[in-house]
Amino acid sequence: MKPSLPVDRVSGASYLRGHIYRELAAVVGAEHITADPAELQAQAHDWSWMSRYLIYKQLDVPAADMAVRPGSTDEVKEIVRIASTWKVPLVPRGGGTGTQGGTLALYGGISVDLGRMAKILDIDETSLVVTTEAGIAGPVLEEELNRRNLTQAHYPGSYTMGATVGGFIAARGSGVVSTKYGKAENQVLQIEAVVPPGRVVKTLPVPSHATGSDLLQTFVGSEGTLGIITQAAMRLDPLPETRQFLSFSFADIFAGIEAGRQIMINRLRPAVIRLYDEGDSKKLAEWVGTPFIGTLMIVMVDGTQELTDYEARAITTLCEKAGGTSLGPSAGQIWWEGKYEPYKKGKLPQPPLVYGTTDTVARFRDIPAIYRARKQAVEETFKAYGARYTCHLSHFYDWGTMLYDRFYIEQAPDDPAEALELHDRIWDVCTRVGLANGGVVNEHHGVGLKLGRFVHEQYGPDGWALVQALKDAWDPDGIMNPGKLGYGPPKNSRW
Ligand SMILES: Cc1cc2nc3c(=O)[nH]c(=O)nc-3n(C[C@H](O)[C@H](O)[C@H](O)COP(=O)(O)OP(=O)(O)OC[C@H]3O[C@@H](n4cnc5c(N)ncnc54)[C@H](O)[C@@H]3O)c2cc1C
Repeated sequence: MKPSLPVDRVSGASYLRGHIYRELAAVVGAEHITADPAELQAQAHDWSWMSRYLIYKQLDVPAADMAVRPGSTDEVKEIVRIASTWKVPLVPRGGGTGTQGGTLALYGGISVDLGRMAKILDIDETSLVVTTEAGIAGPVLEEELNRRNLTQAHYPGSYTMGATVGGFIAARGSGVVSTKYGKAENQVLQIEAVVPPGRVVKTLPVPSHATGSDLLQTFVGSEGTLGIITQAAMRLDPLPETRQFLSFSFADIFAGIEAGRQIMINRLRPAVIRLYDEGDSKKLAEWVGTPFIGTLMIVMVDGTQELTDYEARAITTLCEKAGGTSLGPSAGQIWWEGKYEPYKKGKLPQPPLVYGTTDTVARFRDIPAIYRARKQAVEETFKAYGARYTCHLSHFYDWGTMLYDRFYIEQAPDDPAEALELHDRIWDVCTRVGLANGGVVNEHHGVGLKLGRFVHEQYGPDGWALVQALKDAWDPDGIMNPGKLGYGPPKNSRW
């Protein structure tokens, strides 16, 4: 049996913790609960800069008091019931690949690791729908589907790092082929979730209906603040018969944005459009080896031979009309084959570098202004620190696109308080510039702890009051992942 809770001195609080620990151990089994400080740290860390910086400085992140690994929905239901009774915070955790501090346990409590709930429950090959437990990692699911010539076409950069189906939905994520196959919000048909004080909710079997407010989409993007997703039914697609790659160079990013707009408003459906600004293009040029001047765009179309032949021709015509020069297939092919390489451990940016991906999304009309304003804001406001800004666009909608832009400062101040303050200040500037020019707080990484302070501004006081009222109705004690998505601490809690 793992060690029980360390009790430094006998007090009401430590007695209560021991009591709750034993109640939870009776539900999940003693081998699936821990209060070991090192394991609790591992349950709290994610891939946010804050988390990575604190590891670099050998400082602790805010961690839970205990972590449980349930094996079934019934066990999750009991955990939520116990936490609701004692008004103890619950912090769901999938693969811990989030970048927004969503798994940091700001108010302690119980970390709920979904890693044991990783079964494939049903593959409906007639409707092309798979139902799984929420803790399954993308590649594990994909391996089984590929054997049947199917795919759950959600391939985020964190694909090989352990991201789970529950995490895709909870953070409203997207993958590299999302322009054609949709984001998690478009792929999910149904979920099962457990909400306080221990209710098991199943949304409707199909996502399109005319039955009033949509329970399913209220859970999507809720980042564990409303309930714990235990199962999900996701749309599948046939593995494409063929893929064709195209690449183009443009004089500048704005000509490339116009080409992307033309592709989308003509309702073509490439699986991938990736457009890199000058800074990112230079980085990519070394990798793909194709010489070009200006900015690079990579396109991938997939499906039947007939469809891809048609789309490749039509996209080439539109890109050349927008001023693009066709560079042939190899840059796209090389990128596709190495697409997870930049995300491999050891290759990712890491402290003492200060960095952040400040992705946003807006209508085509507003995108050029946001790009210009953000680049200027980073490079001028933080000039004294040598700040750099790069950007690419990797998901295109019928009406607009997103900016996946990053800031970098080579050397964080040595004092942790100063470093964290500088990091937050750059986010303040970037996020507010986005909001002021028609953008939103985030496109696909979620909000977590890092961006919670902007959600109130995004919705305004009246909009926020409604969002908060919804949260209060679902989670009256505020125990679900408190401090995230702009929500405050748990209420009525003596924890
Ligand atoms: C290198 C790198 C590249 C990335 N690239 C992408 C990308 O291309 N696209 C993209 O969308 N994201 C990307 N991400 C971000 C991240 O991987 C995604 O948000 C992913 O979907 C998170 O899944 P996870 O299982 O790791 O969730 P976690 O990190 O464990 O959790 C994220 C949030 O969701 C909540 N949560 C997790 N599981 C559940 C559940 N079952 N029920 C309720 N709440 C839950 C957590 O409480 C937390 O708030 C990247 C991250 C890294 C580090």
